Amino acid sequence: YYFLNKLGLNDTEIQINSIGCKDCRGEYIKQLKFYLKDRIDSLCEVCKRRFESNPLRILDCKNVVCKNVLEKAPQIEDFLCSSCKEHFDSVKKELDRLKVFYVLNPYLVRGLDYYTRTIFEIKSSHLGSQDTICAGGRYDDLVSELGGPPTPAMGFAIGLERLLLSLEKAGVKPSIACLPCIFVIGIGQACIQEGMRLASLIRSQGIPAIVNFANKSLSAQLRQADKEGFPWVLIVGEKEVEEKRYILRNMKSGRQVYVNEKDFKILDKILKGES
Ligand SMILES: [Zn+2]
Ligand SMILES: [Zn+2]
Repeated sequence: YYFLNKLGLNDTEIQINSIGCKDCRGEYIKQLKFYLKDRIDSLCEVCKRRFESNPLRILDCKNVVCKNVLEKAPQIEDFLCSSCKEHFDSVKKELDRLKVFYVLNPYLVRGLDYYTRTIFEIKSSHLGSQDTICAGGRYDDLVSELGGPPTPAMGFAIGLERLLLSLEKAGVKPSIACLPCIFVIGIGQACIQEGMRLASLIRSQGIPAIVNFANKSLSAQLRQADKEGFPWVLIVGEKEVEEKRYILRNMKSGRQVYVNEKDFKILDKILKGES
């Protein structure tokens, strides 16, 4: 939510719902099916099939006929067990406290049935009917269902195309801070491996780094870095590994300086100073 705001999208709406746990959801599905049983002929073709396979999905059908049928359907909030209810209340309370504005949508469900309790979507008013740019929720039982220890978890996905589209429609041009990426050249297999370690140290400083795994000559790798537009190259040869200092080359000016692991901590300053 903050991320989207920071990008400049300020028309977003957060919708939340709780779909309960495996204890309380079953009873709700039973009641929902009981309600829909006599109205099944009024549902759209897709929802007629969903009635058996995944009745919860009927709740978020975009078809008007289904929406009409659902108007008086039982709502999951009334079926949450006491711990799910308490949990959902605390989620709402925390959002209020953080001043994150949200809308309760009792028709919100997720396509996959491993979700538990809180689910959410973030919608953009710029997108018409396919308006969800971010969606996710909790899945407290998934890890244990896959054979792991009981591990509460949550996750979400952002639709990149929809996000870009809504930014465009909103007339927002996000300023993309393009960090200079370092192309790490290892000369020989052992140096490539050392290059991998160095690249991860560089990345831990927030600077992108890519290791070239092609075991080619230095000049071939430099040509490749140049062709692919990398502004910086870190050369890791046998001598450099032995001396524990590596050659940082500015591809534009051709200037080279030696850097060691300690220098990585101030690498952003070195890059700035050398560019
Ligand atoms: Zn429950
Ligand atoms: Zn439908």
